[in-house]
Amino acid sequence: MKIVTVVGARPQFIKAAAGSRALRREHTEILVHTGQHHDENMSEIFFREMGIPAPDYNLGIAGGTHAQMTGRMLIALEEVLLGEKPDALLVYGDTNSTLAAALAAVKLDIPVLHVEAGNRLGTLSNPEEVNRILTDHCSRLLFAATEDAAQKLRGEGLGDRTHVVGNIMYDSFLHFRSLPWEPDIRGFDGERIDVPARFYYMTCHRQENTGTDEPLREILLAMNSLDAPTIYAVHPRNRERAARLCRGGGLSNIILTQPVGYSDSVHLTQNAVKIVTDSGGLQCEAFYAGVQCVFILDYPVWPETMVGNRNQLAKPLREDILAKLSAEQTIDPDYRPFGDGHAAEKICDVLREVTL
Ligand code: UDP
Repeated sequence: MKIVTVVGARPQFIKAAAGSRALRREHTEILVHTGQHHDENMSEIFFREMGIPAPDYNLGIAGGTHAQMTGRMLIALEEVLLGEKPDALLVYGDTNSTLAAALAAVKLDIPVLHVEAGNRLGTLSNPEEVNRILTDHCSRLLFAATEDAAQKLRGEGLGDRTHVVGNIMYDSFLHFRSLPWEPDIRGFDGERIDVPARFYYMTCHRQENTGTDEPLREILLAMNSLDAPTIYAVHPRNRERAARLCRGGGLSNIILTQPVGYSDSVHLTQNAVKIVTDSGGLQCEAFYAGVQCVFILDYPVWPETMVGNRNQLAKPLREDILAKLSAEQTIDPDYRPFGDGHAAEKICDVLREVTL
């Protein structure tokens, strides 16, 4: 088949690294980068480091409101699809790029394949929730990462299109964890950072936690009071606020860095004392690594991780974060809700078996 894959944001590059490798063994893939994430640290480093094929199209669409971004993508993607006339369109996750691509394709009667289908937070106040729901309902094939996600799809009447394949991020995680680690972590001024022997790893970039000073200050105060430094890999959108709060507040136990590459993120995860994040992807990776995670949001993205204190929800409040960080975790090594790290191959197996 000729398959157009659309990516646009960091977590999608990480998934496409595993997906493209497997797809290209049997199919012709045309890769489209919408441009949603576009700079060196948020995009190019992943293509280079993870061996993702260069995009055939780069639409250069970033910024603006949700409607502006999604609308511009919809128009540009329709043109690509009209020109390429693919047999199918494949999308990952839940970004505006995912939704725009699915909508453009379904209206042209091109079958949509959605990887990481069925995740639900249960609230439309999360901007990605509507992207997940609409994309799933536009799709011909739904590849769920977990049984829980498949259950949600069945509950919405989509069971006959659903296949549980495991989490494709786990494929990438296992691959990069097995490679040697040569850290290349940079501070805001580009200076190389030495990784301390003991450290906490943190990412935090959601609007709820970083849109104003107060929640981020609370999170930083909690991290600053810990028994080892925190490496905080800062999303470009919070850079100014994080720098001001840390430097202005004398929070010297926090090491601010530029976004790190995937190998660095995987190995920081694997070697951290504990992880604090509001990233759905990183909470899963903490789970794979067996490292305890505190997730700063009101609802879990991956409920499967919320067992034995391996992942706990916290409010963006210092006391709550510290209380959750001090809890012990239990690990059942036989509990593997995310599959076996061969999701990409399982997707290809399904594509071989079904007629679209
Ligand atoms: N990640 C990375 N570098 C960083 C921060 C995160 O490579 O500086 C990786 C992380 O390991 C995970 C993914 O990016 O695999 C998560 O992406 P993001 O937080 O942007 O998206 P979300 O998980 O919130 O959808």
